[in-house]
Amino acid sequence: MRQKAPSGDESRIKDNGALTDGATPADGSPHAHTDAASMPAFHPLDIPQQSLDKRIVAYIQQLIESGELRAGDRLPAERELAAQMGVSRTVLREALHTLAAYGLVELQHGRGVFIAAGSAQAAMQRLTLAMTTNVTEPQMRDLFEIRRTLEGAAAEWAAERATPEQIASLRANLAEGLALYQSGQIDGGVAGALDARFHAALAAATNNRAMMSLMAALVDELAFAREQSLAIPGRGLRSLHQHEAVVMAIEERDGPAARRAMLEHLNDVERSILKTLAGEDGLDES
Ligand SMILES: [Zn+2]
Repeated sequence: MRQKAPSGDESRIKDNGALTDGATPADGSPHAHTDAASMPAFHPLDIPQQSLDKRIVAYIQQLIESGELRAGDRLPAERELAAQMGVSRTVLREALHTLAAYGLVELQHGRGVFIAAGSAQAAMQRLTLAMTTNVTEPQMRDLFEIRRTLEGAAAEWAAERATPEQIASLRANLAEGLALYQSGQIDGGVAGALDARFHAALAAATNNRAMMSLMAALVDELAFAREQSLAIPGRGLRSLHQHEAVVMAIEERDGPAARRAMLEHLNDVERSILKTLAGEDGLDES
């Protein structure tokens, strides 16, 4: 699945020769490679065709992580880079858009593609998680087993301890989701972010900081699979209704009911994701 890039990049990179030679390196980093000779050699990738753009992203990301590419480095011209890696320019462009969308590279108007200054560790982390395309079924089951334990408890504790403000922010998430679905302005990415924020808000409503950080880590692990499953028509709205059941139980201060509603939600989402991984349409008609 193609990663989204900010709109407008497509034309920028295509139309103005953003990847042509002769540009000067971005300022700001004392570590930038200053000449082509010190750039790492890009080698051909032997990889399955369907996930090529993701593999290129992972590869360049790895070069940044290992320090072979540094902030301020300008990547070779698109044609040259594509040739070095043995990939098409189209798929290379997609990969660069993804990297740019996550802030790891900058597509500078007419100058080229630069490794972003201070490529934030957070950006790197987000990208890694988003790119976790090879999530296997056993890994997913493991994750959901933990999520049921943690988030079941989180829902119950939230029912017992959430402040009115915290409940209001859960409600606000539901309202935002409903508005998005009603306007039709929703896709897997938007729905995924909304879902992640709901679960984060729920963790916050436990007023247990350890719970909040554990949940943040788990929710991130699921980013890619969530986005895919939420791109299934009907999945996001279904999640929204299940979230509402959790919130209603919390409002009624009914801990066991909140836990049950959360478990129902997680079981249903797990089924969707497993079906997505298996290449089915992901929705249970029940
Ligand atoms: Zn959810």
